[in-house]
Amino acid sequence: MILVEPDVLLTEASRLPGLDGQKMSKSYNNTIGLREDAATVTRKIRTMPTDPARVKRNDPGDPAKCPVWQFHLAYSDQETKEWVQRGCRSAGIGCLDCKQPVIDAVLAEQAPMRERAQRYLDDPTLVKNIAADGCDKARELARETMREVREVMGLAYS
Ligand code: SF4
Repeated sequence: MILVEPDVLLTEASRLPGLDGQKMSKSYNNTIGLREDAATVTRKIRTMPTDPARVKRNDPGDPAKCPVWQFHLAYSDQETKEWVQRGCRSAGIGCLDCKQPVIDAVLAEQAPMRERAQRYLDDPTLVKNIAADGCDKARELARETMREVREVMGLAYS
């Protein structure tokens, strides 16, 4: 096999919706940036819409109708997910309580990204060098693959 057909590699929560439950898109203004600052991320998640049935704190809700639940599916362990299911349906927890584990998980996920990126922000030539090295490697691999393709197709004139 020379040209391998790519296949998908999906995790259980393979698609994360936007903060409003729609497709995540910059033009919908419903995204979280990978290195967005902690205060903005916190504000964005705290203001996410929830199940419209939960008008008041003591109105029960349904996680299936709430975009925050999609984030719990991606970020929370089983115990937290059960806490959300129970607490939402019984109005035992408020929506801000429910959002806090998501905020904590997103910030924890972003922390090492911010840290790793800082080195490259401080010295952008590191990025240029990595891109140049990558180009060299890709060019070499492409040359080799095309040589094999020509050979298999009987186009290897020399
Ligand atoms: S408690 Fe959680 S799942 Fe239920 S409506 Fe509020 S934010 Fe959504």
